[in-house]
Amino acid sequence: HHHLLYATPEGVEAVVDTGHTHPEAILWQRLADYRVGGGYSLLTRCRAGEVGVEVLIDELERAGLRGLGGAGFPTFKKWQAVRAEPGPRYAVINADEGEPGTFKDRFYLEREPHRFLEGALVSAWAVEARALYIYLRDEYPGLHRVLTEAIAELEAASLVAPGFVVLRRGAGAYICGEESALIESLEGKPGKPRHRPPFVAQRGLFGRPTLVNNVETVYWIPLIHEKGADWFAGQGQGRHGRKGLRSFSVSGRVKRPGVHLAPAGITLAELLEEYCGGMAEGHRLAGYLPGGASGGILPAGKADIPLDFDTLQAHGCFIGSAAIIVLSDQDDLRAVAANLLAFFADESCGQCTPCRVGTEKMLTLLERDAWDVQALERLARVMMDASICGLGQAAPNPVLSLLRDFRGELEAQNLIVKG
Ligand code: SF4
Repeated sequence: HHHLLYATPEGVEAVVDTGHTHPEAILWQRLADYRVGGGYSLLTRCRAGEVGVEVLIDELERAGLRGLGGAGFPTFKKWQAVRAEPGPRYAVINADEGEPGTFKDRFYLEREPHRFLEGALVSAWAVEARALYIYLRDEYPGLHRVLTEAIAELEAASLVAPGFVVLRRGAGAYICGEESALIESLEGKPGKPRHRPPFVAQRGLFGRPTLVNNVETVYWIPLIHEKGADWFAGQGQGRHGRKGLRSFSVSGRVKRPGVHLAPAGITLAELLEEYCGGMAEGHRLAGYLPGGASGGILPAGKADIPLDFDTLQAHGCFIGSAAIIVLSDQDDLRAVAANLLAFFADESCGQCTPCRVGTEKMLTLLERDAWDVQALERLARVMMDASICGLGQAAPNPVLSLLRDFRGELEAQNLIVKG
């Protein structure tokens, strides 16, 4: 009997030597199995000088790979920016995955940790990093176990020098998903976002140039190289003119929630119908959050717009990490907005006033029997303009969305006066 390690939906791992496991447990791919399929050949060839870094950067550019943690910055540009700075440099993987409704990184990590690790190690190689840090969300204890074992496998196989990959646990702070706060936390300090410039590409971990990539971003790199940039960009058959695929984390009032890898240009209506089995029984679509807590709320009437970066931005929303939360006629929109504001107020790091005081104040305004629209809009403007980081800047999004796209509903609830 050999031991098998599982990641389960509860994040609990089970070491077993019989056929009895958690019914939804997932068997992760071991190093030997990953190598049978050609795993780690990209890393090996990079190190041997058979694949040049410029070639790889060019592939990532043609593939159109963008940061999949939320910001959507072109990956090749990030790599170039860090490479342009003097060494020594560091590479960091943001595995904090704290955006409410987002669980795609976990999905890939608990199935194919080695594909992820190869991509991460290639990113570290590309910037000649002194070490690779993985900052893992602490609410993923099962994954901590999986990654610890996977890294040990790599060291035992001499694919990585002992200690080169450092696995660090987060401490449950949403703000540590913000890259400069994450770096502060890695340095052992409270997770507070830094002022920019300098950007972390210039002065990041321990004051050195640092490449920070999201889990899923690097996960795709071995496949992009193996199958080609055109293959990657051509996925999704150019649905509504958009390139590639996106990993949507879908939750809420749908029949089949979960991670759905779908064309990047897909609309919510198509995603529901083709991937999610439609709305849950007895629920009618009322609206949806396209980007977790931060991306705003769209009405059912906008279920036919492509869910890509640019289209959503034109509608005042953000796709972010593609966490789609589907709301129905049985959800109270005001309660949704208040819940999100309470979340932001809780998670604010407190270092700047517009965010620390603004989130609390906005929550108070939302709890009134009649909304003061002018006060809400003025407060939102201050928070967006004057907050240091994305948390405070995005916190008013749910409220602004309601005021923009859900007037009728707010009037029906007598929250705002008709007119
Ligand atoms: Fe901290 Fe909020 Fe200011 Fe960001 S916006 S630095 S979370 S107080």
